[in-house]
Parts: sequence; C-alpha cells; structure tokens
Amino acid sequence: MPTTIIEPFRIHSVEPIRMTTAEERRAALVAAGWNLFALRGEDVLIDLLTDSGTGAMSSEQWAGIQRGDESYAGSPSWFRFEAAVRTLFPYRHVIPTHQGRAAERILLGALAGPGSVVPNNTHFDTTRANTEATGAEAVDLVIPEGLEPALDHPFKGDMDVERLDALLTARRPDVPCVIVTVTNNSGGGQPVSLANLREVRAVCDRHGVPLFLDACRFAENAWFIREREPGQQDRDVADIVRDMAACAHGMTMSAKKDGLANIGGWLAVDDDELAERCRTQLILTEGFPTYGGLAGRDLDAIAQGLREVVDHDYLRYRVRSTAYVAEGIARAGVPVLKPAGGHAVYLDARALLPHVPPLEYPGQALATALYEAGGIRSCEIGTVMFGRRPDGSEHPAPLELVRLAIPRRTYTQSHMDYVVEVVAEVAADAERLRGLRITSEPPALRHFTARFEPLGGPARD
Ligand SMILES: *Cc1c(COP(=O)(O)O)cnc(C)c1O
Repeated sequence: MPTTIIEPFRIHSVEPIRMTTAEERRAALVAAGWNLFALRGEDVLIDLLTDSGTGAMSSEQWAGIQRGDESYAGSPSWFRFEAAVRTLFPYRHVIPTHQGRAAERILLGALAGPGSVVPNNTHFDTTRANTEATGAEAVDLVIPEGLEPALDHPFKGDMDVERLDALLTARRPDVPCVIVTVTNNSGGGQPVSLANLREVRAVCDRHGVPLFLDACRFAENAWFIREREPGQQDRDVADIVRDMAACAHGMTMSAKKDGLANIGGWLAVDDDELAERCRTQLILTEGFPTYGGLAGRDLDAIAQGLREVVDHDYLRYRVRSTAYVAEGIARAGVPVLKPAGGHAVYLDARALLPHVPPLEYPGQALATALYEAGGIRSCEIGTVMFGRRPDGSEHPAPLELVRLAIPRRTYTQSHMDYVVEVVAEVAADAERLRGLRITSEPPALRHFTARFEPLGGPARD
C-alpha cells in the first residue's frame, strides 16, 4: 500500500509568486528597518510569517461567501455560524468577534484588572498584551518539559498542575480565570492532553475559578490527542473536541486558524451574567451580537470551515506535512523544537547562534537571514516578542525561536523542500550571522512595528 500522504485537495485557483533576487531582498530589508512585518507581501517568496488568516478556502467556503446574508440582525448566516460553533463547543452563549484578540480583550476586560493575575500554559502575545492592558499580571505555567526545545514529549503544552494549585492557594482572590491555550502556540504549537485539561479543571473547581480555552488550534490539538493519548486512537476528532470543550467554562477563538477562514473569531461562555457584560462591550466596539465585527459572508465561511477542519484526512495531511518540514530541517543538522508542532516548525535560534546574546536578538538575526537568502518570511518568537516588560525593562525570553508557520492548504511539497534547502544553507554559515539592535519601538507588542539595525561584524558590513 502506498505510504505517501497526499494533499487531500486539488488546486482550484492560483496566485503567482513574484521571484526576487538576494540583492532586491536586502534592499527590502533595509527599507523595512529589518522588521519582517514591515515588508510588502509581494516581496516574499514563501510566506511563513503566520498561519493566521493566510490559508486557502475551499470551494464550499467560497460558495458560503456567496450565500452570506448581510441582514444587520438575525441573519441566516449568523444562525449557521452559531450552530456550527455549538456543534463542537456547546457553550450557552456564542459571541462573534472580528478576530481572536477582540474576544480576548472583551473577556479579559470583563474579568481581569489591576492586582489580578491570569495563569495560562503560555500566553500568546495578544493574550499577554490584553491581560496586561487591564493592569493584570500574565503568568505562564507550562510544564518544565515545555521549555526544553530538544526534548521529545507527547504533550509539551500541558499546564503544570502543581504550580497552578500553588498559585491558586496563595492568591485565589486575585485570579479571575485560568486559560489553557490549545495548541500552545508560543510554546511551539505543542498539544495539551485531555488528561491534563481534566486535571486543570479539577484544580479550578477546587478553588472555584472558571477555566477558559484559548482554542485557536483546537482541531490540531484534538488530532494529536487522537494520535498520542492512550485510549483515544479510534475516536472521531469532533468528539475529542467536544470533550476538550467540556473541560472549560468558555473559550476565545481566532477563526483565522482552525476556523479555516481569512478573518473572524468568537467568544463563548456558559455564564449568563458574564455573557451579558461581554455583549455590552461587543456592541460598543465590535457590532451587534449576531455579527460581531464580521460580514454575514464571513460567518458562512467560518461555519463551513468548522465542518472541514475536523475531517480526519485533512488533519492527517496537515500534521504530517508540518512534521515533514521539521524532519527535513533536523536532517540537515539544524536544531528544531521537538516534536514538530501542528501549525509550525520552530528553529532554535539560541542553539544555532550561541554567539549572539539574547539582547542582540538571535531569533531576529536568523529570521532576517532566511529572508535575505531565500525570500522566506518567518517570525521571531523570543526576546523581541516577549523581552520587554510593561515597566520598560528588557529581559531575555525563556526561548529564542524562529517560527515557520505553515498556512493551511496553501503551499505544496516542493515549496517546503525549498524551505528546507534555504534553512540548511543559512544554518551552514550560522557563525557569520550577527545580532541587531532596536532603533525604535512602541510601548507594547513591539515586534510588530519596532525598527532594527544590524550590529557590526563581517557578515553585515
Ligand atoms: C492568533 C492567536 C490569537 C489571536 O487571534 P487573532 O485572530 O490574531 O486576533 C490568540 N491566541 C492564540 C494562541 C493565537 O494563536
């Protein structure tokens, strides 16, 4: 029997890639202040900046776009969206938002404030920013294995239940909620087991604190549970998702990830009073509760995406094709975070560039080198993203990673073979790479808009 796992789709329309030279890319880097977020998309050959909203929609999703009904209130698209969400996440209240961070802002704005502390396995950047924007403290409690890039472990996204219990014992009145991120994006796209979710819920129940899922990659997480957790092998992924949902009191979601859509998100909760407060905020900044910040057609695209994302053939291809990239890069001797995540491959920039200190941003040095060498846009997840505290001080992040995020259903195997080749080529010359310094930065979420300058040294002169 053939063992090659093929893309379970054919290509239906194509977008040309504009070829560029290394000289053109170097000029683009200078103009962008060495920040890959400041590049023009057309100057990128393979765009692995993010898997957020960058995937290809299916023909049925495009049909949904046509079906979209733009009634301001009570649109049929809304009812299709709500039903699709509640099939997987049967919470009492579903509140649509324009993307995940709006759901986070509304939920954390309703729950957290100065003096409070919000535990998460690992806060994603927008989750951390939205927590800190309320005046609260964001605490990461991933298991110790989750911070060891080279260590293989089936559920590196699990939360450290003992530390959670200790935090809740010491500071219960200050903790408005606990959040578990599935999969753990900032910790390498690593899954959280059902067993861990159930233990976290038990601790939350003992202390009377609500638990929320940051569920952006719920389907990939459920597929890992099916593949790796004892007793889960023969189950339908949709059932595993419902089991994950049952562990929590609500969720935030970016439909730009496992919603398979280009925009959208939602907040869902069981608590009637909390839902009421969230809807009041929603109307102020997002829109009426049956559309949030979305067009009716977006709601239909998401509803269809939620049906497709739990398809086993899709998930098998998705997770296998990401592992294929990680294996190729590891074979070339480049340190990658193990095991491969669901949506991304993470290069360990600290291990590859031991001569670049954290405050000279080894991840940024590697990411800009990948762009210059091969037009690949990746994303630093390290001290640029997480090194600046709200008080303005700077500290090394726990990990210096470069994330190659893989858009859903978008690139082919030869695109990925090219990526592996470029990474291997840059890594072969790693000792020539130099760090950077920041020349300007905003007070929060600096990685999006900071500007850099390469530090002196043979490679960058
Ligand atoms: C993308 C993401 C978010 C934020 O969602 P947006 O749609 O980008 O606003 C929150 N948490 C995690 C884990 C994410 O990956």
